[in-house]
Amino acid sequence: MSIEPRAGILDIRPYKPGAAEAPGIENPIKLSSNENALGCSDKAADAFRSSASRLHLYPDGGATALREAIAQEEGLEAENIVCGCGSDELLQLLGKAYLNPGDKVVQSQYGFLVYRLVAMQCGAQIVSAPEKDYTTDVDALIEAAGDDAKIVFLANPNNPTGTVIPNSEIRRLREALPASTLLVMDAAYAEFVRDPNYEAGIELAREYDNVVMTRTFSKIHGLAGVRLGWAYGHKSIIDVLHRVRGPFNVNLPAIEAGIAAIKDRAFVKASVDHNEEWVAWLRQQIGGLGLEVTPSVCNFVLVHFPETPGKTAAEADAYLTSKGLIVRGVAPYGLPNALRVTVGKADENRAFLDALSNFMAKTPAV
Ligand SMILES: *Cc1c(COP(=O)(O)O)cnc(C)c1O
Repeated sequence: MSIEPRAGILDIRPYKPGAAEAPGIENPIKLSSNENALGCSDKAADAFRSSASRLHLYPDGGATALREAIAQEEGLEAENIVCGCGSDELLQLLGKAYLNPGDKVVQSQYGFLVYRLVAMQCGAQIVSAPEKDYTTDVDALIEAAGDDAKIVFLANPNNPTGTVIPNSEIRRLREALPASTLLVMDAAYAEFVRDPNYEAGIELAREYDNVVMTRTFSKIHGLAGVRLGWAYGHKSIIDVLHRVRGPFNVNLPAIEAGIAAIKDRAFVKASVDHNEEWVAWLRQQIGGLGLEVTPSVCNFVLVHFPETPGKTAAEADAYLTSKGLIVRGVAPYGLPNALRVTVGKADENRAFLDALSNFMAKTPAV
């Protein structure tokens, strides 16, 4: 008999990232992982390259220069920031630090899959609060949390739905939760949102010692490959995260690329502008094919397919893949009739739409 892991670990289904290959197709178009259509900042890529001469050195374990750059650009205090190997790591660390076996973790119905993984890794129970119109329902979250949830994970805006709730709703949530519940605001897509009623979680994390916000360099900064994220919160939470993180959890090239990226406001603006234009285009064009598209403030759209044989999401997925267009099936989120499509470059979006309209026009094989 082999050595056994902790109870519950073997029940975990490992996270399956968006596909990167289409069998038999040399250069497929990857619209499956919400990567930045514009790539990354040239300055970030230069900084990454120039770090190559120092790869034998340990990085600064405190990522001080990076935290200071983030603090300066975002108007925050560097000592209230901790960096991680992707915001994923920070979500894991929050679980590791705060969850006991049997604790209750609450998320929204179509919440990001990583929250479930974090809960299961820690032997905690995940409870999902029903959504309305693919949007977080604060009343349902409050009810699910009751007086004994240890963590409420909330992606705002959410992936894979792309929907957002206003700051007033987040405040109402925080005020209704007990002091013993940690509210984790996952603001992975914050920079894409231009709605004035939106707030990523900075204000709340400043005011409350039981709110923490996580952010990522993977989306708006186009640095998914280097793995870099950060969390902002009360010093008591940041102190806890420093205790449970690895001593060098952020690598040297990531620190250098991250500093250059966060300072490159022009790249960020270009990314937001590009996204605003094309997410609206995709929504309108896909809607024109008779498919329902959930309104998205992110760099992807959720497209709903009928259950009619020949026109289902699974068949669309297979057809698109056969044409070299890789999108994301979201059945693991409980959305078997939908596909998530990342905003690409102009020609990629057009190629996607062409393939999708061919699929929709196809007469089903009987
Ligand atoms: C992409 C994404 C993240 C970021 O993950 P990284 O580990 O920073 O790449 C976090 N939360 C949500 C909801 C996401 O979609």
